[in-house]
Amino acid sequence: MDLWYTEKHSENVGITMKVSKTLFSGQSEFQALEIVDTLEYGRMMLLDGLVMVTERDEFVYHDMITHPALFTHPNPKKVLVIGGGDGGTIREIMKHKGVELAVLCEIDGLVIDKSIELLPSMACEIDGSNPRVKLHVDDGIAYIRDHQDEFDLILVDSTDPIGPAEGLFEEDFYRMVFGALKKDGIMVAQSESPFYHADIQKSMYKNLRAVFPIVEMYQAFIPTYPSGFWSFAFASKQYHPVRDFDRERAAKRDFYTKYYNEDLHLGAFMLPTFAKENIAEK
Ligand code: SAM
Repeated sequence: MDLWYTEKHSENVGITMKVSKTLFSGQSEFQALEIVDTLEYGRMMLLDGLVMVTERDEFVYHDMITHPALFTHPNPKKVLVIGGGDGGTIREIMKHKGVELAVLCEIDGLVIDKSIELLPSMACEIDGSNPRVKLHVDDGIAYIRDHQDEFDLILVDSTDPIGPAEGLFEEDFYRMVFGALKKDGIMVAQSESPFYHADIQKSMYKNLRAVFPIVEMYQAFIPTYPSGFWSFAFASKQYHPVRDFDRERAAKRDFYTKYYNEDLHLGAFMLPTFAKENIAEK
């Protein structure tokens, strides 16, 4: 009998995929973790039944949570990732040779362990082999409280704002991030689907604007996320992602990016009207 996995995106709509095998299914202190093999999207990680990453489309999310900030900041050396236990975000950061240290602060050690074992194409830089990467199994909120004025970039690669990630969408957390960044630092956070999550976006961008002088939203197309239309928040103390973007440096990058490029960097910040309305200042 065929096995199909369905994630509901609203009461009446979802995405469904044929699964060939369950590779891991277990419960951590924080959430239910499953890793399954699908017929079209390769291996897929689910947390509490929601799609986190698939091998086939993870390049979009991981290119876009990293490279826009790494190519806007002129010289990022120290980067913190909160969440991101699958390792894909760290893998992309490591392509930037100027980065001296990337710290991964993931609350759930089981996500890290199972990603190293079952998702090696993503977790290849968090398996202990790279001295430029340090792992902390801890709550991101507790971690940044003790690290002030330290990072050039902070990337929040979190789950949705329920359970352990709830606090990562609050104004108090953004104030701590502001403090943990150096004077010209940048924060990027996944900011949900403009199509389905207008309410979350509204409060998230309001909270960000209460703290950061520069706040912009940018978009990416991610087939396995609700509606396929996904977004990221770019919050910055000094550099603007379009006006201060060094197109030449991005064009001369010495590594391959399957989604990101110097044209898309600019295009991603151009938003459809309904998405602008979600985050309009009123
Ligand atoms: N790409 C995914 C998405 O947008 O659906 C997110 C990747 S998933 C690996 C996000 C990770 O954030 C999870 O492993 C989860 O354990 C972690 N996380 C959630 N809340 C956290 C917190 N407060 N501190 C650190 N990590 C957290």
